[in-house]
Amino acid sequence: MDAIAHKSPTDYHISLPDWLAEAIEIANDPNQDDEDSELIAHAFQFAYQLHEGQYRRSGEPYIAHPVAVAGLIRELGGGSAMIAAGFLHDIVEDTDVTCEEIEEKFGEGVRHLVEGVTKLSKFNFSSKTERQAENFRRMFLAMAKDIRVIVVKLADRLHNMRTLEHLKPEKQRQISLETREIFAPLANRLGIGRFKWELEDLAFKYLEPEAFQEIRELVADRRTDREARIEEAIEILRERFDKAGIEVEELKGRPKHLYGIYQKMQQQQKEFEEIYDLAGIRAIVKTREDCYRALAIIHDAFKPVPGRFKDYIGLPKPNRYQSLHTTVMGNHGKPIEIQIRTMEMHHIAEYGIAAHWLYKESGGATDFKPTPEDEKFTWLQQLLEWQNDLKDAQEYIESIRDNLFEDDVFVFTPQGDVVALARGATPVDFAYHIHTEIGNHMKGARVNGRWSVLDTPLQNGDIVEIITSKNSHPSLDWLNFVVTPSARNRIRQWYKRSYREENISRGRSMLEKELGKAGFESLLKSERMQKVAERSNYQNVEDLLAAIGYGEITTHSVASKLREESLKEQQLEQNEATENLEEETVQTLPTTTSRQPKKSTTSQSPIAGVEGLVYNRAGCCDPLPGEAIVGVVTRSKGITIHRQDCPNVENIESDRVIPVDWNPINANNGKRSATYTVDLEVEVIDRVGIFRDILARLSDQNINVSNASVKTGQNKPALINLSIEVKDHEQMEYSFKKIKQMTDVLSIRRLFDNNSN
Ligand code: MN
Repeated sequence: MDAIAHKSPTDYHISLPDWLAEAIEIANDPNQDDEDSELIAHAFQFAYQLHEGQYRRSGEPYIAHPVAVAGLIRELGGGSAMIAAGFLHDIVEDTDVTCEEIEEKFGEGVRHLVEGVTKLSKFNFSSKTERQAENFRRMFLAMAKDIRVIVVKLADRLHNMRTLEHLKPEKQRQISLETREIFAPLANRLGIGRFKWELEDLAFKYLEPEAFQEIRELVADRRTDREARIEEAIEILRERFDKAGIEVEELKGRPKHLYGIYQKMQQQQKEFEEIYDLAGIRAIVKTREDCYRALAIIHDAFKPVPGRFKDYIGLPKPNRYQSLHTTVMGNHGKPIEIQIRTMEMHHIAEYGIAAHWLYKESGGATDFKPTPEDEKFTWLQQLLEWQNDLKDAQEYIESIRDNLFEDDVFVFTPQGDVVALARGATPVDFAYHIHTEIGNHMKGARVNGRWSVLDTPLQNGDIVEIITSKNSHPSLDWLNFVVTPSARNRIRQWYKRSYREENISRGRSMLEKELGKAGFESLLKSERMQKVAERSNYQNVEDLLAAIGYGEITTHSVASKLREESLKEQQLEQNEATENLEEETVQTLPTTTSRQPKKSTTSQSPIAGVEGLVYNRAGCCDPLPGEAIVGVVTRSKGITIHRQDCPNVENIESDRVIPVDWNPINANNGKRSATYTVDLEVEVIDRVGIFRDILARLSDQNINVSNASVKTGQNKPALINLSIEVKDHEQMEYSFKKIKQMTDVLSIRRLFDNNSN
């Protein structure tokens, strides 16, 4: 292939295929200097050779596609590196050429662009949820870093959409769906209106062929009538503008894009009849002031439709779009939509981010070479500047949120779903993000097919695969490097639970030592043991063992309760035996322990056995009705009532301990039964509203809360301290159960004076 630089299509004296004519035109753009032309011609020739013998489905030589892409980029005002990248964008994917070779031949800039486009081509976007689509768009922006990569990718997509008719219907739908969900919104975000509209209309054509045809025909049918009305209005306006001395660069009817009409019909629930008639006019004037003057003239010439004026000059859209919009009533009683803008605003509306290149360089097509940081910075800078103008704060916040992607990293599951994580997130964060159980049983991770160290921060575009095993467990060390709060909380939670297992097994062996091996296992499963657990304020035997394990209750006190239960059982058997089998020999009753209290049903005091004495409830164990209690004779404060299993009681000489018990509550002579304060500590996963939910549960049970406070800490479960008023042990147990059932509650325990801190 001859060099095409410094040639014009007519130099060949034969009729050239369109793509070759276009390539020659691109390489000989008078706005380019020689160096640029060389680079572009060289890139074309390289691509031509490499794609030689490849054909598209349309039957055209493959090279026609890269040429068209390069042409679209040139149309947008892209510089020589971008145009060269347009020619070369498919060669790494489709041929043996490496990125290193491209750098050698065309420089680092071109390599960077081709590499970026190749990378973006690898992802499969089909059938994603809306949220996934948004993640993809954000990932695109984050990954591409250099916005020019996305512009090349969009040009590639646009040409593929233009030639989609040659593919199978299934493929057409899939590609169109991606275009609608990912690429058209991206073009919109970059403000490239002309790409956005065409991409949307093409996707519309393949996704809703019937609606597309219908609207297209209806629009064509009314064309003449509508065009006549537009012409008439334009004549009136032109005359008025002239008189006012406003110089008009362009004043003409404006094509409406079909998908826009369709969307309006859907969103506003309007019939096509109400929308097709809408005529559009665009006026391009010299200056910003002229825009407003033109507006005044238009509103004078025609009646404005109330509520339809929008000032996007004063309040530009986040994608930098600026214009005045108004709708007026034309002479035939039909509305006309009018846009007023300057030429620069028009370019921004059509080319968006690319308009920047057109205006930055006086030559027009000179390559714009910002460092990626510069580019991003100016973009963000602009967003920040607009903040001052944007009255619609919501819109502003959304635009910022969409653009500040620096804090996120986007990675893939092996199935190709995008997961957004905080920057610095590791495979462990990823695993917990997917599922708690995956995190808890994580054994290792493969990142991009290779085994990875678990604390390695993930990079944009990494494909992460978690390997699990039944026997793997979290390591405490993970807490040193995970960055997401959810991973942190789940690891802690796991440890709480596993710590519990350890405590249970420790408690079990401690108790076994105290009671002896014989019959121990069956004892643990017995009803007697369950009773002891309940009497000691634990829901079940496991909880009791765990409590022994971490020293909340002594084996000694469990053993003594066991003995009591066993005695009770014997007594019961005895009684049954005497009642039912009177003839049988009555065994000697076992002696009751000294702790058996005397009962008094007549006393007004809630406690039997302290009649006439001064007494108070011990703060170290806060005994409640329903719990076994003892009285301790103190030197100065009368009798203190302790729980029988209170650790403080064990160290007291037995002659100071007197047997007491609760009087039945119904014996309080009809008085409202007394309530007792119990202090609790609830450990919860910190979330908004959990505190309120707990209070609501308590109030459902008519439990009064006299004191409440919350302690939160970064990445820690929150602690809620409550003082509640309960009638008895049973009510307290019930409320514990209710609170424990809440999903975000990790644990609940009573606090006493000696262990609250
Ligand atoms: Mn391509």
